[in-house]
Amino acid sequence: MPSNGYIGRFAPSPSGPLHFGSIVTALGSYLQARQRKGKWLVRIEDIDTQRTVNGADKIILHQLENLGLFWDDEVVYQSQRIPLYESALERLNKSGLTFPCACTRKEIAESPYSCTCRNGIAKGKTGRSIRIKTDDRDISFNDKLQGSYSQSLHTEVGDFVIKRADGQFAYHLAVVVDDAEQSITDIVRGADLIDSTPRQIYLQKLLESATPHYTHLPVVIDKYGNKLSKASTAKADYIDNPAETLTKALVFLGQSPEKHLSNASVQEILQWAINNWTLKNISQIREITLD
Ligand code: GLU
Repeated sequence: MPSNGYIGRFAPSPSGPLHFGSIVTALGSYLQARQRKGKWLVRIEDIDTQRTVNGADKIILHQLENLGLFWDDEVVYQSQRIPLYESALERLNKSGLTFPCACTRKEIAESPYSCTCRNGIAKGKTGRSIRIKTDDRDISFNDKLQGSYSQSLHTEVGDFVIKRADGQFAYHLAVVVDDAEQSITDIVRGADLIDSTPRQIYLQKLLESATPHYTHLPVVIDKYGNKLSKASTAKADYIDNPAETLTKALVFLGQSPEKHLSNASVQEILQWAINNWTLKNISQIREITLD
């Protein structure tokens, strides 16, 4: 399928079935790609074995199909791409910016966090994770929905982990390697990840990868103020009535599905949505409470 230059993706972690919030993200990234006549890829982010739930990937893919959100190409699984992350880590090691860190979770949680491992590990301690040195320069980008966003990694985030103490590659490294390897041009995802973006842009620069365009959609918050989580979704919600779910997700995204669509099929709703999709109608806020 021709990508028309645009390649988007939906990258769920298989920690449980998709909930309404992740369906909103899937739909937004799908519509943005399809309206541009681009490709839309699905990547299962199963690199964190502690969060991965057996069989959740299959449920997620089934939910997407049920919603009519068909993807292009083969689904990619992060767990099968470890050599790619190894080689990126080697390249980062060569930059001289990585260092082993001996701090435990407890030490890191202490405030203010004062890891000095970047200057060498203290005697008697051993390296557990691998971190990357950050600096004081601001990293800024222009989000297509949220506008300009800027962060000083050194003061706001600190040197961050790229390989964890348990030997697993960190999300930030894996996502940057995959987005580059899959030639992703546009990332549409939840606004809960906006403050991760400067870290990812920093790694893209070090790995000499292109920086995609970013669009961070509002995330769905429940009436208690909590972000919905896949891990706490007991059953595959919203799969019983996909047409109704799509309509509800479109309304959440500020789109105004026409009345005649109330009895329409999933395909008809999606076709209308592709034709009428506009970022202009989406609230430029990071969280919206679902009543
Ligand atoms: N895997 C992440 C999640 O399910 C999304 C990562 C991304 O879109 O960059 O929250």
